[in-house]
Amino acid sequence: MSKKLLLKDAHIEGIRYFETYRKQGGYTAAEKALKMTPDEILEEVKVSGLRGRGGAGFPTGMKWSFLAKPEGVPRHLVVNADESEPGTFKDRYLMEFLPHLLIEGMLISSYCLGSNVSYIYIRGEYSWIPDILEEAIEEAKAAGFLGKNILGTGFDCEIYVQRGGGAYICGEETALLESLEGKRGNPRLKPPFPAVKGLWERPTVVNNVESIAAIVPIIDITGAEYAKIGVGRSTGTKLISACGNINKPGVYEIDMTITVEEFIYSDEYCGGIKDGKRLKACIPGGSSVPIVPANLLLRTVNGEPRYMNYESLADGGFATGTMMGSGGFIVLDEDQCIVDHTMTLARFYNHESCGQCTPCREGTGWMYKILKKIEKGEGKMEDIDLLWDIQRKIEGNTICPLGDAAAWPVAAAIRHFRDEFEWHVKNPELSQTQNYGLAHY
Ligand code: SF4
Repeated sequence: MSKKLLLKDAHIEGIRYFETYRKQGGYTAAEKALKMTPDEILEEVKVSGLRGRGGAGFPTGMKWSFLAKPEGVPRHLVVNADESEPGTFKDRYLMEFLPHLLIEGMLISSYCLGSNVSYIYIRGEYSWIPDILEEAIEEAKAAGFLGKNILGTGFDCEIYVQRGGGAYICGEETALLESLEGKRGNPRLKPPFPAVKGLWERPTVVNNVESIAAIVPIIDITGAEYAKIGVGRSTGTKLISACGNINKPGVYEIDMTITVEEFIYSDEYCGGIKDGKRLKACIPGGSSVPIVPANLLLRTVNGEPRYMNYESLADGGFATGTMMGSGGFIVLDEDQCIVDHTMTLARFYNHESCGQCTPCREGTGWMYKILKKIEKGEGKMEDIDLLWDIQRKIEGNTICPLGDAAAWPVAAAIRHFRDEFEWHVKNPELSQTQNYGLAHY
């Protein structure tokens, strides 16, 4: 059984409220942290090996150490709660059921970074959660854990919740900052990076909800103890939101030492494939990471078991591996049509492109149209090569990672499931009434 650090108290009735959270030991990590120096906290975060839980997996301590500290210029912590990646809903769970864990993590992080005004930018579709967060902020303030001169330390900290307007692109950190400043959420060219010029051109750290919540157990048990959980550079625990054709969709906390097979088939987690069907493929890190067929998902090319951690999931690079990403674990059974699935994702990325750069603005639209044509049985063999060519021209040639996010699913689908694309081309009539999965398994 995986160790629980973030969700250990999630089952307790009333844990959403300050009184219950406090009774369970809540805010003791904050009390401990406020007696430490900011540099000591930063050292704990570095030692913990915590990697950003939003998708990129960049070491959090290193990110914090890049924060510029010019004299007299305010700095900010911004929590990225714009969780819009299809298949990813773990931050929603944290905010809805454990809002004080996030607020406590923000207090410690704000103190470490020197942010007196910090923000939570939350996706517009999570319409009921800002009220929960704002209530928690008020409770923390009333108890002296936010506001002026917190616990007599002289440190002031306010937290504000900002609702997004429902654009996926605002999950990209610089688009988020633009939106937070009241502008259209267009990603910025980097450099300068937010650590130097972020919100209102002030030094800013943007971190994912889960990353900031993880600061609480890191301070609680120490960075060194946190680093002992997990394996290699995949330290601590990770939240996984599991969905698709499984018996038990939900949010699970794992310690990154379990195998993918155990995660899918064990009753503790996904509980196996729905209706006893066979596993066809999986996207383990949110819709933008490469899809992997079952044989490569359960084992690496060397025949080693594949584990639920950053290194093992990526083993073999994009040719045979994938990524941990945001932990949005989407499972596809034998009946699913990969062309149809890829088309749905292409439509999503085309809709969400901000339109600033040509490869993304035009390319995502072309990919969607070609996929639609193939799926309807109106495609030609050359269309598959054209699709491959377009995704190659998008990847790495755009301002922000949305271009890559749109290209990778198409590349992986063609790489691993080219036969399905060809089946649609060769069987135009059948492909209108059946999908490849149903016709072949
Ligand atoms: Fe906008 Fe797409 Fe360019 Fe990102 S890659 S800046 S979403 S057009």
